[in-house]
Amino acid sequence: MRYPLRGGDIIKLNVAHVDLGGCEGCSVALLRAMIKMQDTCNFKDKMIARDDFKVEKEDLIIVSGAICLNDTEKVELLKSLGENGSVLVAFGSCAAVGGITRYCRGGQQPKPEHMTFQPINVVVDVDYAIPGCPPSPRMLKPFIDAFVSKKQSNFIQIFKAVAKVRKLSGFDLIDDVILQNICVGCGACVLSCPNGALQMIGGKPDLIVEKCIRCGTCYVRCPRASQLVIRRYLK
Ligand code: SF4
Ligand code: SF4
Repeated sequence: MRYPLRGGDIIKLNVAHVDLGGCEGCSVALLRAMIKMQDTCNFKDKMIARDDFKVEKEDLIIVSGAICLNDTEKVELLKSLGENGSVLVAFGSCAAVGGITRYCRGGQQPKPEHMTFQPINVVVDVDYAIPGCPPSPRMLKPFIDAFVSKKQSNFIQIFKAVAKVRKLSGFDLIDDVILQNICVGCGACVLSCPNGALQMIGGKPDLIVEKCIRCGTCYVRCPRASQLVIRRYLK
C-alpha cells in the first residue's frame, strides 16, 4: 500500500526520527515498526551526535526522549525542529509527558548538571503525542494510517489531545476516573501498565504508587480517561 498524498500522487511518507536521549526503548520500537513499513515510508534515523546533523522539512518528525532544559544545545535544536514546518510527533512517554525522567534530580554521571527534564511540548508546539514506555511497535502503523486518512477517530484524537498535556500518570487516572466514580471496571489500565503499578481490587484499579513511572499509558488506554482528555483539550 502507498499513501495517496500531494495532489493525488501516490507517494511514500517522509518520516524522520530524532532521539534526544534516553534508554533507547523508543528507538528500538520505532525501528521494529519501520522495518515493516518500508513500502509506505521513507524512514530516516537522524543522529544528533553526527557533525552533519540536519533535519529538512519532512511529512512527520518523530521525537523520542525528554528535553533537558539545562542542555541549551538540545533546546535550540528542538526549537529548530518546531520551526521547520513539519508535523511533530512526541513518541514515547519521556517525550510526551516526561515519564520516568520526572524523577530526575540531577547529580548523576555523566552529566551531573542535567537536572530538569520536561516533555518536548514545554519547548515546541507538538501535533501528536504517543505515550508508552515504550509504545508498542504495532501502534505506529495505525497511527500513520489514521494521520494520512485525516479521519478524526478517537484513536488519533487522543494523541492530538495528549500533545497539549504536560504530565499524565496513574495518579491522574485515580483522580479523574476512580475518585470521580466513572470507572467501568474494564481492567484496560491494569493490562496496559508496563510496570505492574496497577492492580484490580474490588473490581477497580488501585495504584501501587512506588511503582508508577508516570508514563501515562494507563490514562490513554482507559476508555473513560481518554474521553476526558479529548473533551478537555479538543472540544
Ligand atoms: S500506573 Fe502504570 S501505566 Fe499508569 S502511569 Fe503509572 S506506570 Fe504508567
Ligand atoms: S481502564 Fe478506566 S474504566 Fe477501565 S478499569 Fe481502568 S480506570 Fe476503570
